[in-house]
Amino acid sequence: MKILLGRVFLIFVALSFQPLARLHAKPSGQCSDAELLIRNAKIITMDRTHSIVTSMAIRDSHILAVGSDAELAPCAGPRTQSLDLQGHVVLPGLIDVHTHALEWAKNVLRNDVDPGYPKVHSIAEITKLITERASTLPSGKWIRGAGWDESKLAEHRYITRKDLDAVAPNNPVWLEHFTGHLGVANTRALELAHLTRNTPAPSGGVIDKDGSGEPTGVLKDNAQSLVQALLPHDPSDLALKAVRLVTQRALEVGLTTIHDICLPADSMRAYQQARKEGWLKLRVQMAPLVSSVAEAQALANGGVYTAFGDDFLKLGAVKMFADGGMAAKTIAVYEPAAGEPGNLGLLIWKPEDMQKAQHILAGAGWQLETHAIGDRAMDEVLDSYQSVMKDLGLKEPRFRIVHAGLSTPAIQKRLRELHVLVDGNPAFVYWLGAFFPKYGAQRVRWTYPAKSYIENRIVAAGTSDVPVTPISPWWGIWALVARRDMQSGQILAPEERVTILEALEMYTRNPAYTGFEENQKGSLEPGKLADFIVVDRDVLSVPTDELKDVQVLKTFVGGELVSTKAVPR
Ligand SMILES: [Zn+2]
Repeated sequence: MKILLGRVFLIFVALSFQPLARLHAKPSGQCSDAELLIRNAKIITMDRTHSIVTSMAIRDSHILAVGSDAELAPCAGPRTQSLDLQGHVVLPGLIDVHTHALEWAKNVLRNDVDPGYPKVHSIAEITKLITERASTLPSGKWIRGAGWDESKLAEHRYITRKDLDAVAPNNPVWLEHFTGHLGVANTRALELAHLTRNTPAPSGGVIDKDGSGEPTGVLKDNAQSLVQALLPHDPSDLALKAVRLVTQRALEVGLTTIHDICLPADSMRAYQQARKEGWLKLRVQMAPLVSSVAEAQALANGGVYTAFGDDFLKLGAVKMFADGGMAAKTIAVYEPAAGEPGNLGLLIWKPEDMQKAQHILAGAGWQLETHAIGDRAMDEVLDSYQSVMKDLGLKEPRFRIVHAGLSTPAIQKRLRELHVLVDGNPAFVYWLGAFFPKYGAQRVRWTYPAKSYIENRIVAAGTSDVPVTPISPWWGIWALVARRDMQSGQILAPEERVTILEALEMYTRNPAYTGFEENQKGSLEPGKLADFIVVDRDVLSVPTDELKDVQVLKTFVGGELVSTKAVPR
């Protein structure tokens, strides 16, 4: 039986990671009066030794004990519900520490057209959708969509305003790229924004121009706000509806905890309302965005900081952006991409301002997470983290780099020495692998690595960055093991493939640690929250390519059955 071993481990962890760690101690020695007893299962506990057991007892939202069916039989009492899983595989609830889940759900609810793969395969198909939509609307009404990706369109180029003008001359159109780092507006929308060839790009943004200096309609990073500011206001209940959609979709695919990043105030309010009304069954860490020193000071002045909240809803890290996106060619690099001479990308913050803002925030108790994809951006962030840690005397504050796309051995060395964590994106290898070789074949070797993190003892978590890739964590788990690019079919940096158990660690133990929750989540051990899933096949023995097809049959959060729907993705 694992009762004793589990408790000893928990005490060790609790002592090691005070003060944020919290220990759910149980009365010693006894396992009785369980509310739920799982039997006859293959429970992959994801504990330190990767134990596999058949039975698990649960009471008061927590795991009482794990062991064999015979060992746990005494846990049952008159009120115990016993569940025979007939050999099915059980895993800890999966955790995604980098999503834009609520914004994704809002877009699903508010968009007029879906220009994303696999719904469409060409610009011609997108303009057909817009023609149809425009025919139902009075002139002047906005047409919105999100999710297009030129690498998956037959034309293999950005959509331009001219494509859109041809089918919707009288309706302003805004189509956001799947990365969120750019969008395209038609001429009607540019006119409403008073955007001409002479309009200066805002700081941290790019107004894309053609050979004659005219705007193409494509706006990158901060320049998107020129048009986004004009979009119609959302209905007042949109955010709350989006919480329902996120909760349902996340639980269906086996996620029991997500971190929702760059949350605006109305989204935080909606999560809080769902929690208050008692129907938030998904655990959420909310991460606000800070874009200036003044915003950093305002947030620090607010008095709350990382981990404020409860087991279902709490504040996570504070997010900042160091650079842009790979598809937008705005990541900050030391060497430009092919065909982009002189383009070293965007550094969104002046280094001294980033340090100032991060100093203020870390000093106020916030965990830091910073988006950095290019190598030059990662060095800027690591410089800032290093100086903040030194100034404030922080030993292991678990600062995070989000994405860490174009890694190098030198960057890995810095990550290890500074104990900086990585919120990685394994699913990008499949969905976005076509972009990697643009930065040079030799850099593909180090792009979105995984095995190197394990070898270098860097704590990396796997994330979807939904809507950049689909919300299902099974894409990332599969991609960690397979590393196959969708378009070329090639295995990218095969030396970076990991085993299935290592892949599962990146969706269980590691992200629990990232979120300061390793005492509560990430493995099925006594004292931890009873967040677990039942899946339709044995993930330890199926052929690799089946990992992306895994269906979640049941999802339990705090011992409560919250989803039983298996859905195709
Ligand atoms: Zn993101």
